[in-house]
Amino acid sequence: MKERMNIVFVGHVDHGKSTLIGRLLADTNSLPKGKLEQVKRACRLNSKPFEYAFLLDALIDEQAQGITIDTARVFFKTKKREYVIIDAPGHIEFLKNMISGAARAEAAILLIDAHEGIAENSKRHAYMLSLLGIEQVVVAINKMDLVDYNPEVYENTKKSYSEFLSEIGINPIEFVPVSARNGINLITRSNLTPWYKGKTIVELIDGFRKVNDDSRNHFRMYVQGVYKFTDNGNDRRIIAGAVNSGIIEVGDEIILYPSGKTARVKSIEIFGRSNVKHAEAGMAIGITIDTELYVKNGELICKKKETPPHLSNRFKANIFWMGKNDLLAGKTYKLKIGALKTEMHVEKIETVLDASSLAVYENPGKVSRHEVARVIINTHKPIPFDLQGEIKDTSRFVIVEEYDISGGGIITEELKDSEPSS
Ligand code: GDP
Repeated sequence: MKERMNIVFVGHVDHGKSTLIGRLLADTNSLPKGKLEQVKRACRLNSKPFEYAFLLDALIDEQAQGITIDTARVFFKTKKREYVIIDAPGHIEFLKNMISGAARAEAAILLIDAHEGIAENSKRHAYMLSLLGIEQVVVAINKMDLVDYNPEVYENTKKSYSEFLSEIGINPIEFVPVSARNGINLITRSNLTPWYKGKTIVELIDGFRKVNDDSRNHFRMYVQGVYKFTDNGNDRRIIAGAVNSGIIEVGDEIILYPSGKTARVKSIEIFGRSNVKHAEAGMAIGITIDTELYVKNGELICKKKETPPHLSNRFKANIFWMGKNDLLAGKTYKLKIGALKTEMHVEKIETVLDASSLAVYENPGKVSRHEVARVIINTHKPIPFDLQGEIKDTSRFVIVEEYDISGGGIITEELKDSEPSS
């Protein structure tokens, strides 16, 4: 099976997002057989001009009616990969999935209209990408046909947008002059833009890095439980958990956080299997170790020779709130990262982004349902974790209010205890 990658397309309404997606589907031969002709025929029958954007509408309609099996997902294929197109920025579901890690976009195409220029929404979209930690961004400057493929328009748009983007920490891989409607610079470089020496949209998309390849990352496993049992008259203890990332082998030297205790892996136990020599991300396992250690639930097992996690009771995070009540600074909640559970409170709410309007508020005092916020969190004990972009499972947490999962977040920066917040 081909490698798969999630890409989000964002752009102000009417800047040509559906056209770009429709055109990519058609030009990479990713459409179901006969679809292009069918949509073209329907246009002729209704005497309206064909638009590539209709292809996307047609596919989504079909999915809504349950005709295609893979619901609400649009794919396109290149020689290298399959891409899942996420076309719902600003939608609550998208932000929730992004923050909770359920369906993370690994890269983004930001679309702006060369003719109309940068809209307020183009800025909000970029800000949203920066809050969500999407680092791989390509900007498509669309509708170049309406400005006669004038390099000056491209340069000016590129200059002013990249200045804004760098202020919020986004450094696009490339700005591509395109005409989605005419298929210019999408798959092959066009001689209508001889002054553009960069890559095409599809070449750039194929060049995106796969992020969060968990099995190749450092080993991490939060302890879920420690079970004692007697085996042939010997007392044995099994430390159980689900491997969050990396690989563990019999004989590896492990270190536990926050205690710093070390031991060697004596055996790896997987239900229903014998003589297991190694295990990797996604597997539920038990291990036995060569020393008698007091191991607690929620401790993080790492490998001694690999990069250690962060250890702190204070960090910055981006959270998505879906609680019934507003999230308030200073109030105690429960925080869970994998099998780790602890108490926490929010020390400071720095900014809030409204998921529907994408408006941003500074120092808002509270986070309401369906808002994304940049916050400083204090846990009541130091905890081991990783940061966004380092390891997926150990940088994501949920916030529990009473018994409900009320929010999810990604840790972006470790802060030292009582460090003044910037
Ligand atoms: P969306 O709202 O961003 O999805 O925008 P659409 O894809 O629906 O496009 C909005 C309008 O812009 C439609 O009438 C498209 O035909 C038109 N459009 C999209 N891309 C181009 C382009 O490259 N050149 C021109 N001239 N029009 C375009």
